[in-house]
Amino acid sequence: MDDTTAHTSPSHRERWREEIAAAVRDPDILWTRLRLPRLLLPAGRRAAEAFPLLAPEPLLRRIRPGDPDDPILRQILPLGAELEAEPGFTADPLQEAAQCAGTGLLHKYAGRSLIVATGACAVHCRYCFRRHFPYAGEAGWRSALEQLPGDAEEVILSGGDPLTLDDEALEEFFARAADHPSVQRLRMHTRMPVAVPSRVTERLLEAIAASRLPVVVVVHANHPAEIDDETERALNALESAARAVLNQSVLLRGVNDDADCLAALSRRLFDAGCLPYYLHLLDPVDGAAHFQIDDTEARRIAAETAARLPGYMVPRLVREHPGASAKTVITPRL
Ligand code: SF4
Repeated sequence: MDDTTAHTSPSHRERWREEIAAAVRDPDILWTRLRLPRLLLPAGRRAAEAFPLLAPEPLLRRIRPGDPDDPILRQILPLGAELEAEPGFTADPLQEAAQCAGTGLLHKYAGRSLIVATGACAVHCRYCFRRHFPYAGEAGWRSALEQLPGDAEEVILSGGDPLTLDDEALEEFFARAADHPSVQRLRMHTRMPVAVPSRVTERLLEAIAASRLPVVVVVHANHPAEIDDETERALNALESAARAVLNQSVLLRGVNDDADCLAALSRRLFDAGCLPYYLHLLDPVDGAAHFQIDDTEARRIAAETAARLPGYMVPRLVREHPGASAKTVITPRL
């Protein structure tokens, strides 16, 4: 398939479903395929019982076989370290579950309502702050839309990954949200253009471009190796259809805890039509403590990253506190 047909051919329209269906879910298969140390496998199996392994083919293709330290692999690899309880780490670090229960609706910040549209993802990121989230209790995005507060200015479609919904459902979402009198903008948070770029179909692009409300797409990449040529094409296509395409990353030990790496990520994103937006400190979720970087080191890495980039490519280093009215911006410092 050449570049010009990448987002239009009939086979492409369904490829994303096949790629998710064929994702690796069994640790034994992952270990064999990527020639990983067998010593890590028994604990990896146990970690995957607590939070299942889910690794789609497009991401697997970007991982170096035989290298347990590969930065993409680290993000999806179940490890024994996840089973160790750490003080301060909890199942629901942002205290969302109670607020969301029964509605799928979160009012985190003034004027912005977040809809947990689905519990499904195309990839399971081991550091995900919603890795223990009780998705089964939601009422669905249609019901959540009906319960929007009268002052909702922006609706954020989140998950899980909202691009696991099909194009028809997203078209309906765009139309219904636009009928709400106070809503001015839509935002979608998705890792799909990075994990399964074939999800950026022609129909999706048309739906975004045709939406009566401007659509902001926030993608999630943590390392420049995640932006291969297919993801770059998908991001560029999104940038043509949406009002803006932004990226948020999480600062992760063993993945991107290095200024050269983060600067390369920003440049790669910019080339793909996507602006770096936030660099999050890890939310202290059970099972992810091995990714944590302390504030002093995070400030230093952020300062060194900023020194390598023009200002418009520097993501803001932030932390989220449960119940706070905005994210807390952390000042980079050497
Ligand atoms: S795709 Fe997003 S919601 Fe799904 S596991 Fe990864 S970070 Fe969490």
